[in-house]
Amino acid sequence: MYESYWQKKGDETTVVIPGWQFMSYFSDATRLCWFLEPEFAEQIVRLHNVVGNAVTENRHIVVGTGSTQLFQAALYALSPCAEAEPISVVSAAPYYSSYPLITDCLKSRLYKWAGDARSFSKNGPYIELVTSPNNPDGFARRSVVNGSEGILIHDLAYYWPQYTPISSPANYDLMLFTVSKSTGHAGMRIGWALVKDEDVARKMTKYIEINTIGVSKDSQVRAAKVLKVISDNSEGPNEGDSFFEFSYRVMAKRWKQLREAVQQSGLFSVSDFPPQLCMFLNRVFEPQPAFAWIKCEGDIDNCESFLRGKKILTRGGKHFGVSPKYVRISMLDRDKNYETFVRRLSTIRS
Ligand code: PMP
Repeated sequence: MYESYWQKKGDETTVVIPGWQFMSYFSDATRLCWFLEPEFAEQIVRLHNVVGNAVTENRHIVVGTGSTQLFQAALYALSPCAEAEPISVVSAAPYYSSYPLITDCLKSRLYKWAGDARSFSKNGPYIELVTSPNNPDGFARRSVVNGSEGILIHDLAYYWPQYTPISSPANYDLMLFTVSKSTGHAGMRIGWALVKDEDVARKMTKYIEINTIGVSKDSQVRAAKVLKVISDNSEGPNEGDSFFEFSYRVMAKRWKQLREAVQQSGLFSVSDFPPQLCMFLNRVFEPQPAFAWIKCEGDIDNCESFLRGKKILTRGGKHFGVSPKYVRISMLDRDKNYETFVRRLSTIRS
């Protein structure tokens, strides 16, 4: 959906890499994260300062092959190694469907998926994933388990102004970000973690060293360029041409279309979100999440298969730890597909 913006930017974000460049495993051997490209690190700090969505002072940056790799690095780094039992990993339902799959994929003796954080009552240490705004339902979140030995991972993939008002800079111990949702460049496979504790950052770096011996420099250099263009256009004389203004407008338009379609059909419901002031865009607006979390009303029990019958592909509530009456629908497809989707949704009758 952000393709047309980047097309318009033309050569501004084109990167040319001669064959002799970026050949080494190393980027900066003096850094804790020795495979982090300095120019990418600089642009991460700059963009967070421009947008005001995360504190970067006194943080270590760890780069990953998407935030997916960083999530695994964080589990490795945060799990106590002296425990007899794997540490429980929880998140409040509905949670991002990849968390349980990734956590249990290798049947680790370090950590184990323990399901919905709201019903977790085991004593002792645990890791809670807090996704804010949340995938799939779009709500802002805080940790929910009330234990004293909790370790938190904040997945802030969607804490950007096109999706939600930026109320204050996030200031947590371990925060995950990704270009996939911020700039739309999911194919670059680049994410970053802001980590307070040096030991945790070291262990995350170690995991990535063991897993992939670092992260593609070509991708980091390209990501640095994309972030730079976003910061330049957000601050400079071209402010009207800013990426976040563009992406905010696209999301606003899509959410308006979605709410109209839901109303016309009468078979579905979708949440309202309280408006808030965005300190970056300097306006009050309602969150406009990357996914629509839709409930089939009435006697439709399996919303996913019902919608499949109407040629709309969704992901059912079960994947996210809740009832099959719910489905998640991506709001981020290309314009043409999105138009087809809202047209089909609006014409569904019981
Ligand atoms: N976290 C959340 C909450 C997500 O929704 C996604 C993408 N669906 C990811 C992480 C994965 O991001 P990446 O492409 O950086 O691996």
